[in-house]
Amino acid sequence: MIVVNAYAGQRVGVLGLGRSGLAAAGALQAGGAEPVCWDDSPEGRKAGVHAGFSVRDLTREREWEGVTALIVSPGIAHLYPAPHPAIERAMAAGVPVDNDIGLFFREMAAWEPGLDDDGEGDPTVICVTGSNGKSTTSALIHHILLEVGRAAQLGGNIGVGVLDLEYPAASETIVLELSSYQTDLARSLAPDIAVFLNLSDDHLDRHAGRGGYFAAKMRLFDAGAPERVVIGVGEPEGRYLANRLEGRADKIVRIGGREGWTVSMKKAFLVERQNGKQTGSLDLRTAPALRGAHNGQNACAAYAACRLMGLGPKQIEAGMMSFAGLPHRLERIAEIDGVTYVNDSKATNADAAEKALLSYDNIRWIAGGEAKEGGIAALVPLLDRVRKTYLIGAAQDAFAAQLGDAPHARCETLDAALAAARADAQPGDVVLLAPACASFDQFSSFEARGEAFREGVRNLQSDIRSG
Ligand code: ADP
Repeated sequence: MIVVNAYAGQRVGVLGLGRSGLAAAGALQAGGAEPVCWDDSPEGRKAGVHAGFSVRDLTREREWEGVTALIVSPGIAHLYPAPHPAIERAMAAGVPVDNDIGLFFREMAAWEPGLDDDGEGDPTVICVTGSNGKSTTSALIHHILLEVGRAAQLGGNIGVGVLDLEYPAASETIVLELSSYQTDLARSLAPDIAVFLNLSDDHLDRHAGRGGYFAAKMRLFDAGAPERVVIGVGEPEGRYLANRLEGRADKIVRIGGREGWTVSMKKAFLVERQNGKQTGSLDLRTAPALRGAHNGQNACAAYAACRLMGLGPKQIEAGMMSFAGLPHRLERIAEIDGVTYVNDSKATNADAAEKALLSYDNIRWIAGGEAKEGGIAALVPLLDRVRKTYLIGAAQDAFAAQLGDAPHARCETLDAALAAARADAQPGDVVLLAPACASFDQFSSFEARGEAFREGVRNLQSDIRSG
């Protein structure tokens, strides 16, 4: 745990009692503060009481006596579409609102070597933001660093909440995945290296539109003032940001650009150039977990961040090759009788499913669930890659209509779809779960759906063995 000492002896409100809120309350308490916690849901409040915290209704004025700060979880609206009532109270009382990321950077500013620390330099913090690919890129950077023997921890919006990380040693690197909600609210941001991957419309209600969304991400660079940056320049916002950082950041690596220091993908080759001269290249054709153009962008960004950490191209290549990928994102589960089974349960919308379809040929596509607006209309041009579609869940009739004459079957359930795909598949085919839908009609989450797919494939394997 990273103990928060900044509020010793003070009462601090903690709003939201999920993973990050409970960690924040614990870190504040360990540093001598008195956390006063609230969550709108009875389950959250129960978790707070269970962890031994004082749970009080922070939407009521009388609970604000002596509270000096309010720490807010990323799932709670702090401004748009409307501030949470407890945040309104904080604003009315002149109490600063912050989050766990802000607390973390504040503690890092006061960082001191531990007893068995070598005491040289400070820990390095790498922050990754963007609309898509944050988790993959953060996990890849972390993996590459570990593979070359550097001490590193991964957290933030992925895995462990930031205050649940271990207090870092001087030689350690902390890799943080940060969402727009987190960068928007954090009062302190001080990354050593910051990565901006890309920008597409998302979470617009929480940021009052694309401009607000971009501004929230830009805070990592404006307020954070990193000296080393990696910027995806695929959209105007990325190009604008890179331009804005000229003369401010010491080192700028552009992903996909042409000027200065760049890293880009050509087919499955990653190429690094500095002022027009090639300074590194990697052959990623056989990297098992980096298929598809979208992962090419993630690989370029991770490569650039690792170069800014002083690693050589060959060292980085070894880590790219041994990266196993994240669960439920183009996760290769097994090959059975020449047929490959791939779990991309995270493809909860057509955009993400498109990335998956573009990554393979000879696809037996399992799709469906709770449909999003537009369904799979945008994917119809990709159907030449698909041998047959196996439909599941609430969307199956609507999707069948959108598929028209393309081969498809209504299977209702994931298990039935898997069995049908297995029966039809020829060696060289890929059975791909990329639902283009939310999972909530049949599963509790996209993770549960991916687990069910994994389990189904395991059963196929054992059927084959026992048969
Ligand atoms: P995030 O953490 O930003 O949600 P993930 O690494 O978990 O990103 O990837 C989520 C999904 O987004 C993937 O399944 C894939 O469909 C898509 N994706 C991943 N990387 C990119 C990228 N660089 N550009 C566009 N889409 C991507």
